[in-house]
Amino acid sequence: MPDTLFHKVWNAHAVRRLPSGQTQLFVGLHLIHEVTTPQAFDMLRQHGWRVAFPERTFATVDHIVPTTSQRRPFLDVMAEEMASSLERNCRDAGIPLWAEGSDNQGIVHVIGPELGLTQPGMTIACGDSHTSTHGALGAIAFGIGTSQVRDVLASQCLALDPLRVRRIEVNGQLGRGVFAKDVILTIIRRLGVQGGVGYAYEYGGSTVDAMSVDERMTVCNMSIEGGARIGYVNPDEKTYAFLRGRPFAPQGDAFDRAVAWWRQIASDRDASYDDRVSFDAATIEPTVTWGINPGQSVAVTEPIGAAPDDEALAFMGFRPGARVQGTRIDVAFIGSCTNGRLSDLEEAARVVRGHHVAKHVKALIVPGSQAVRRAAEARGLDAIFTDAGFEWRGAGCSMCLGMNPDKLEGQQISASSSNRNFKGRQGSPTGRTLLMSPAMVAAAAIAGEVVDVREMLDAVPA
Ligand code: SF4
Repeated sequence: MPDTLFHKVWNAHAVRRLPSGQTQLFVGLHLIHEVTTPQAFDMLRQHGWRVAFPERTFATVDHIVPTTSQRRPFLDVMAEEMASSLERNCRDAGIPLWAEGSDNQGIVHVIGPELGLTQPGMTIACGDSHTSTHGALGAIAFGIGTSQVRDVLASQCLALDPLRVRRIEVNGQLGRGVFAKDVILTIIRRLGVQGGVGYAYEYGGSTVDAMSVDERMTVCNMSIEGGARIGYVNPDEKTYAFLRGRPFAPQGDAFDRAVAWWRQIASDRDASYDDRVSFDAATIEPTVTWGINPGQSVAVTEPIGAAPDDEALAFMGFRPGARVQGTRIDVAFIGSCTNGRLSDLEEAARVVRGHHVAKHVKALIVPGSQAVRRAAEARGLDAIFTDAGFEWRGAGCSMCLGMNPDKLEGQQISASSSNRNFKGRQGSPTGRTLLMSPAMVAAAAIAGEVVDVREMLDAVPA
């Protein structure tokens, strides 16, 4: 029977059907970090349980690490306690940990693919909502809560409800200045932040086929913001080329055997879906959020629509019918697991080169991992950014959320390449976040206000 990747991978990892109707699913890879694990390990100890598969578990620190200096002990007592407890727990359980100072440290959803841990056909779990990122390589990857982290540590299994599968097709060529971030913001805007509840999102179509694996990660990363439990792209030649030679990917003949298996798990051409939706890439424009959830967005040239959310408008300080374009910003943040990869920094650098950050703007570039930072420095991107007045930081989640020293202050407005514009998300309860692509953030940093990046790119050779 023709089937989808989702069902093939799910069935291959199903241990048994539980009396609750859920499926007990074996987890191939468990990624952990400092925030959602201390209590999970405590619960494990209380029961006298051991970590069942330490060799399938990998740890990093990302959420709480300062990006100016990673010197220990951290000044924030709670951050220091989280980092120390992760170290202790990993040492006791024999789990590899890439702590601050390690060449492989970085945001958990950046380092997994980067190291070749994330592979097609895998089931992956991590105590972070944006685990859906890993679906870009053809894995089915679940963000889980602390008690589920405990379950995976103890049994390497999860009890999960079955999902329906929605095929989201994007076809055609994206215009200049339009990026994967604009695609996923447009998808969430149309389908809604609850539109994906109960679904796995399968992304395809010629636009997605043409995307790099990095771009596919941006799309899959924000599936959760559209309510979907997971998002994925079927593996293809780009996926295999991306993985070849990565440290944890199969090597030599084993890689070729793995590719043969990965080809089989892709959705069959005539697979049936519970729902299908399509988008025309030519109609997607550089997109910005105006509200307090990622579905509240408009094209940068477009006024805020006719059905505004009063609470969101009041919080953000917009009037109905206003435009986000021209909004003065205080902070520009390029980073996060959505847009902190090398290709994101390259796109931003193309906009920044030869310009300077507006005097009133604090502008941060935070690579998603130490490897991204090294690769960017090898290409001279750090110099482009620092010459322009950006701060060049160490790897971490930084201003994606307020769990480290990088925070908005008061009612500051941030142009941000991250994934959530919820109230208080960037560290100040009254801080305001405008989500957009890294190139749009770079353009806003230079102009000091939200602008249409296409106007700046017109001056840059294609
Ligand atoms: S960058 Fe943001 S969304 Fe991604 S893992 Fe860190 S805190 Fe979570």
